[in-house]
Amino acid sequence: MEVKIYNTLTEKVEEIKPIEDNLIKMYSCGPTVYDFAHIGNLRYFVFVDLLKRTLLKAGYKVFQVMNITDIDDKIIQRANERKIDYKELAKTYEKYFFDDIKKLKILMPEKTPHATEEIPTMVEIISKLLKSGIAYKKAGSVYYNIGKYAEYGKLSKLDRRELRPGASVDIDSYEKDNSGDFVLWKGKKENEPFFETDFGVGRPGWHIECSAMSYRYLGEQFDIHTGGVDLIFPHHENEIAQSEMFCGHKTVNYWVHSEHLLVDGKKMSKSLGNFYTLKDLQEKGFPLNAVRLLFLSAHYKTQLNFTIKGLKASENTIKNINEFIQRLYSSGDGKKDISESIAHLKEEFFTHLFNNIDIVKSLARMHDIVNLANKTELDNLTRSSKSKILDAFKEFNEILLVFNLEKSEIIPQEIRSLAEERWNARQDRDFERADDIRNKLTALGYIIEDKKDDFIIRKK
Ligand code: AMP
Ligand code: ZN
Repeated sequence: MEVKIYNTLTEKVEEIKPIEDNLIKMYSCGPTVYDFAHIGNLRYFVFVDLLKRTLLKAGYKVFQVMNITDIDDKIIQRANERKIDYKELAKTYEKYFFDDIKKLKILMPEKTPHATEEIPTMVEIISKLLKSGIAYKKAGSVYYNIGKYAEYGKLSKLDRRELRPGASVDIDSYEKDNSGDFVLWKGKKENEPFFETDFGVGRPGWHIECSAMSYRYLGEQFDIHTGGVDLIFPHHENEIAQSEMFCGHKTVNYWVHSEHLLVDGKKMSKSLGNFYTLKDLQEKGFPLNAVRLLFLSAHYKTQLNFTIKGLKASENTIKNINEFIQRLYSSGDGKKDISESIAHLKEEFFTHLFNNIDIVKSLARMHDIVNLANKTELDNLTRSSKSKILDAFKEFNEILLVFNLEKSEIIPQEIRSLAEERWNARQDRDFERADDIRNKLTALGYIIEDKKDDFIIRKK
């Protein structure tokens, strides 16, 4: 099945044609592990999960690499403030990051390399760029001369008049009007970790990390590269400049960027008090599947305005659909056959998904199924219509993973809540508490069975 996606480079929606048969090689910019992920970051990772599950559903194999940036300005600064080793800081937040990933049912990438373990590949690329005169040394650091790369600016549509070759920029994140020669290797400074190389002692700039890891694990050319829109410039622009001049040709076929998440219509920031982590939302009592559905429910090319009201609405949607499914199980059989309409709506759900991940329309078709069934009244539907509805929801849930579609024996709400609490404790690695709750549930006559991304409650 063909899948179309918006390519930032060409500014067009294009059909994805993999380089190798039906294997898609995908590189996703990963987290910089200096703090807890915020819900903006998590929206991006949920989008990448949606993209990957869509490609898998369309019949492709996916090999995904996602880097862990475990050395950069922010990590070093925070570790120095806390007077701890930068590696210790990075390890701590990496662990929290993967906990969040699991909680949101995001598929693990096939490979998650760490920047600090990939220095030899970075050295290989920088050495070649130095040798070919594209990079130059200055005051112990190495810079990329953007004047040597005629296509610089092609991803972010930078006006060539804005370029300032010769002006060297030392920081990793900067604005378009500072677009000068960017740093590949930062000369050693006091209180900073360093590595020894032929071109000097120091540490890598941020952009070279991703060029090196994608080259090492996906080769000279691969299919998809993802990131949030803030990474288009300078991170991905610089990555293209490095990789293309190192390899001598185009290295990425489809550049895919997801839009930002706002909170109450504003940019999220700690100073505005509108900054949330996943833990904050859990502490407010929201279930994780409501968070996942909320992130999934906006198109990736539109900003998602996060509000608590919106999160409550997602929670209600899940409750309503779960109840609808249970009513489906317990309803009597009638004569009205709507199988064909269901098949058609199910097909449309996936047609929209494969068309530039148009999930807003897919979800609308899903709700159409519920409305159609309710309008006819469930007792009037044929048994086969109802099994078609269930099958459709099972397929939708392979992508969404937010509904409970098992026929439930009537499980009291307090038992459900306890089981949820235990699941969350497990996700937080509080196994002692999780076991305590399990024992309590056993004593009350219920058995919990853990699945990969979920759990089932049964009466003993
Ligand atoms: P970082 O850990 O800061 O490198 O960010 C990890 C990912 O989250 C990157 O792909 C960013 O583009 C993305 N990101 C950062 N802030 C937001 C936001 N407010 N909304 C959506 N994505 C974001
Ligand atoms: Zn990156």
